[in-house]
Amino acid sequence: MKVRFWGVRGSVASPMTNAELAVKIETALQLAVKAGLKAETEIPAFMKSLPCYVRETVGGNTACVEIQAGDKLLILDGGTGIRMLGLDMIRRDYGGKPIEAHILLTHTHWDHISGLPFFVPGFNPKNKLTIYGAFSNLEARIRNQQKFEYFPVPLPAAFHFVQLKENSVFQIGDVQIETLPLNHPGGSHSYRMTHQNKSIVYATDSEYKDLSNHSLRPFIRFFQDADMLIFDAQFTLLENIEKEDWGHSNVFCGIDMAIEAGVKKLMLIHHDPAYNDQKLYKIFQDASEYLEIYAPDRNLEICLASEGLTLTV
Ligand SMILES: [Zn+2]
Ligand SMILES: [Zn+2]
Repeated sequence: MKVRFWGVRGSVASPMTNAELAVKIETALQLAVKAGLKAETEIPAFMKSLPCYVRETVGGNTACVEIQAGDKLLILDGGTGIRMLGLDMIRRDYGGKPIEAHILLTHTHWDHISGLPFFVPGFNPKNKLTIYGAFSNLEARIRNQQKFEYFPVPLPAAFHFVQLKENSVFQIGDVQIETLPLNHPGGSHSYRMTHQNKSIVYATDSEYKDLSNHSLRPFIRFFQDADMLIFDAQFTLLENIEKEDWGHSNVFCGIDMAIEAGVKKLMLIHHDPAYNDQKLYKIFQDASEYLEIYAPDRNLEICLASEGLTLTV
């Protein structure tokens, strides 16, 4: 399966500010002076040597992850990231056939659906875009977002709906999909996708307040031996304690659960909109050190999800 991250922010879209951009440029120039850069030809190698938080940005779009599994295109959540995915999709070669995609929604908080009205493949009625959700009133919730009071255009005919039940197991072609309810205000649902013996779990918008074995067991079982776990690590540990019942988690909780479940790769997502790149890379660095100290012999890899990051499972 090929995974591409189009939106990795939680709560609300958060574009980089001019002040943040200025700090990046200034830092890069200071490092260039220190490195004694003399010719333009030296720039590409120098760029590669820059710290991640200077060279890159994790991006400001909200939740959207694309998974290509065989000939099936799965899209996890329709946050603002889905707009760029839609523009990319209409440039792809489908051999003259209409576009078919399966959009799996975790829940309908705005950061997970507000990109849907701007998803360009929806404007062609020949395309077939099926939206799935295990929460109640799926179709009404999505249609209501495009009521005249909120958006000038109603939901186009290309969209179809599949209302799931809690704890569903179903197939999309040869991809098996399972769902599990998570701990989140108003509810959220995790998806586990299995294709050719590889599994990816998308588990965002969830809080694990009760860390007892009994309470965590259903989640550990759901994450068991996943090749990739895409995990809500919105807060620092301290902020997670301060923001109890906000329905989100932290990276240390993700690492502990991933180790317990034998996960191979842990992707941190749903970054807090108030955290800039420097803070996010620091959180990632601390998490890497924690993993190194706590479980040096474990086969777990952790990765900070950023816009445009593409991985194969
Ligand atoms: Zn969210
Ligand atoms: Zn939410």
